[in-house]
Amino acid sequence: MKITDLKCAIMGGAPIIRITTDVGIDGYGQAEFYKSYLKPHVLFYRDMIIGLDPTNVEAVMQRIRRMGAFKPWGAAVSAIEVALWDIAGKAAGLPIYKLLGGKVRDKVRTYITTNRYPMPTQTPAEYVENVLKIREWPEQFTIFKQPISFHSPMAITTPNYSYGERRPWGVHSNRGVMTAQGMTHTVACVAAMKEALGDSIGLALDCGPGFMPQDAVRFAQACEPYNLLWLEDMLSGDYTPFVTADQYRDVKNKTSTPLHTGEQMYLRQNFMELIEKRAVDVIGPDPLDVGGIAELKWICEYADMHGIMMAPHGTGNGLIGLAALVQVCATLPDNFIAFEYPKANHPWWYEIIDGLPDQIVKESFVDVWDKPGLGISFRVNAAKKYLEAGDERFFD
Ligand SMILES: [Mg+2]
Repeated sequence: MKITDLKCAIMGGAPIIRITTDVGIDGYGQAEFYKSYLKPHVLFYRDMIIGLDPTNVEAVMQRIRRMGAFKPWGAAVSAIEVALWDIAGKAAGLPIYKLLGGKVRDKVRTYITTNRYPMPTQTPAEYVENVLKIREWPEQFTIFKQPISFHSPMAITTPNYSYGERRPWGVHSNRGVMTAQGMTHTVACVAAMKEALGDSIGLALDCGPGFMPQDAVRFAQACEPYNLLWLEDMLSGDYTPFVTADQYRDVKNKTSTPLHTGEQMYLRQNFMELIEKRAVDVIGPDPLDVGGIAELKWICEYADMHGIMMAPHGTGNGLIGLAALVQVCATLPDNFIAFEYPKANHPWWYEIIDGLPDQIVKESFVDVWDKPGLGISFRVNAAKKYLEAGDERFFD
């Protein structure tokens, strides 16, 4: 089998990737729906993989893996990797999890990131109102991850939150030393949410990046009575093109509240320091940023050998990303907690993708399906109307 083309179309903001072959099997991948600008980056790899056998996934990846980087520049490589596995699975007549060594669970736990309603005042009462609404969702999620502090508008809307100027631009651009008022306000929001939710919901917080290590210690210690699942990205993380393993280890050694990072990181080599120094308690690579699903599995196994847990990122990954997450998470060792649920960014996605259960999440779990490859496909006629000008021949 040979790769005949690598195509990319933007659908609903998401770069959708299609690899075609000379035997008529095709494979799909995608990047986050925030990353429409990646189309030329995807096509950059086209000539490097045409003519190769897509079922030799690793051999194809060796051609392109060197030319990727931390988020967002690992997404195109990662999406191609997923499409290759989709083809390999279809060619073998097996779900991808079988090609990764087989599943160890029949259903996979997923968690929800809970910033789904407007929260203009960022007060404890508003945080409580928000999480209580999510608790009523039919999916009955058992783990919530609430953006807070520098990962939320709180750092801008709360008066005197931190020392230094407010930065209204960019992605998570605020960083600095917190005031006593800022610290007290943040802890009050955590306490209020925990009081409202009790212990029936596991609560994690996406916190930054933006904390100084000294404030991170104080905040993590202040959270100790609340038995949180993890504090994410306090020091570095989302859209940080480096890893601050020593700083994370300093904070970790001073608190019992688990620390989490890694969603922006690319490739197993970049996790070495974090894992080998046991600098955090949980890592959260995204299969669509880290270099793909086989890469994520390798990292998860290495983390397990070092006593580190795994909760993969995925909030913007769309339905193809959901399928990739389900396939790989079915194979992960027992350090796996849950993956971040990718809710589609438009309702029409559920009409143009075939193969997903009618109710995808039941009591916070997704049943692992058994169809070949990713196990999903496009309803092409329905999907065509969402193609942008210039992409009309994407499904041809
Ligand atoms: Mg995050």
